[in-house]
Amino acid sequence: MRKKHNILFACSELTPWVKTGGLADVCGSLPQALHRAGNDVRVVIPGYESVLRQIDSPVFISQLELPLGNVALCQTRLRAHDVLLITHPSFSNRPGNPYMSDDDRAWADNPYRFALFSQAVTEIALDRAQLEWQPDIVHCNDWQTGLVPALLTLHKPRPATVFTVHNLAYQGNILHSAYTDLQLPAELFHANGLEFWGQASYIKGGLAYADRVNTVSAGYAAEIRQNKYGCGMDGLLRSRGDRVSGILNGIDMDDWNPQTDPHLPQNYSLQTLDRKSANKAALQKEMRLPQDPEVPVFGVISRLAEQKGIDLIINAISTLRTEQLQLVVLGSGDTELQTQLLALQQDLPDKVAVKIGFSEPFSRLIEAGADSFLMPSRYEPCGLNQMYSLRYGTPPVVTHVGGLADTVFDPDQGAEKANGFVIKNATSEYLAQGIQRVLTAFANKPLWHQLQHNGMTTDFSWDESAQKYETLYHCAINDIEANLTR
Ligand code: ADP
Repeated sequence: MRKKHNILFACSELTPWVKTGGLADVCGSLPQALHRAGNDVRVVIPGYESVLRQIDSPVFISQLELPLGNVALCQTRLRAHDVLLITHPSFSNRPGNPYMSDDDRAWADNPYRFALFSQAVTEIALDRAQLEWQPDIVHCNDWQTGLVPALLTLHKPRPATVFTVHNLAYQGNILHSAYTDLQLPAELFHANGLEFWGQASYIKGGLAYADRVNTVSAGYAAEIRQNKYGCGMDGLLRSRGDRVSGILNGIDMDDWNPQTDPHLPQNYSLQTLDRKSANKAALQKEMRLPQDPEVPVFGVISRLAEQKGIDLIINAISTLRTEQLQLVVLGSGDTELQTQLLALQQDLPDKVAVKIGFSEPFSRLIEAGADSFLMPSRYEPCGLNQMYSLRYGTPPVVTHVGGLADTVFDPDQGAEKANGFVIKNATSEYLAQGIQRVLTAFANKPLWHQLQHNGMTTDFSWDESAQKYETLYHCAINDIEANLTR
């Protein structure tokens, strides 16, 4: 049997306590799968006040005296594994989410907060936090934890590091002067280190210094080596050769199960698919759309960001205004996109209904109540929503990028595995064509049922991907032991 690991899993979001997107769901479910496989996993997150409020009496472990300030390390449990919380006044409640205000502006002290968090993770990684526990792997996720692999290279011995890119476009870049003001190590600031066009880049800490780097689909792993998708980091990623790989995200198949989802007015399965229509009726009612079972309803649940192609949806639906269709959108983020969506709703009140905000229960009603799901992303590292919609019998329309191309298959790619519709490019013309293909397919019940069947019977569980992470950990540890890394 393969050796199991002590894994310190560092992240800035964690379902069910704090979520802005897919990162939280991955961090909520991958550690569980690693635990099930026999590893000792401890997740470490910032002790946001909003999280502490949801936890019954977290246990105080120790006070950590860090270069950027003192923090308290507390511990609690989430299902089967421990969660460590780094508490500090800068993680107190703010109107908005952990990174942005309600009006979509990044908190000015983010560089401080996530440098502080990274310093705390580094202390735990070096077994200096009175846990009496030495991880052999530190698994970091996205820019908020990018400094950790960099800081750890300043210590010997140190545990091996893995850095997962969930979205390369969010980089945590700060002015060099801000880096200096934070008194972060000057020896890490150079072209092969954190320096990025004169600035200091937190994500580059992960990309340049982690023993192994991976991203969340094989497709995105290939794309980010190219100039078009590399966000300026493609040269670095190419230079790291086979140390960069892709592992497809899984989903929590128990949590996202239409047969048991407690948020649905009507549960259903592949065998009782006719019951799905009760959710459609509830969705139409709640959104004050005509309650017509025959009109195809398209769902969208999204961060409102350029990446997600929301502008393409607005243009495509405007073009298709005379078609028999309905659109339900749940989203938060960019204020300009909010305004445009609300204008579309006003323009087409019998066809378009928009809810601005973040609501997990409502998102599940959309997954279950819509007939088809729109996700015309300009790039998509993995994407979870298309997998959730496949599982809920709601065939998606997606662009041929990243993890979408790895999980959604068009009838043109063969009827036996077709589960949705793939458009060639992220343009409103291609999207409009994709929507029209849905309208045609929706009227062809055997074809539609085949698409639903293929989506609902796909195994998106974590077990296979968790095994791939174990292999990656193994490689990272071997790298260190063979002293192949710096
Ligand atoms: P990303 O992480 O880029 O935002 P993903 O598709 O990987 O995109 O994951 C998004 C996750 O966040 C999904 O679970 C989705 O349902 C959820 N989500 C996004 N926006 C909202 C919202 N406004 N309300 C509720 N859930 C949302």
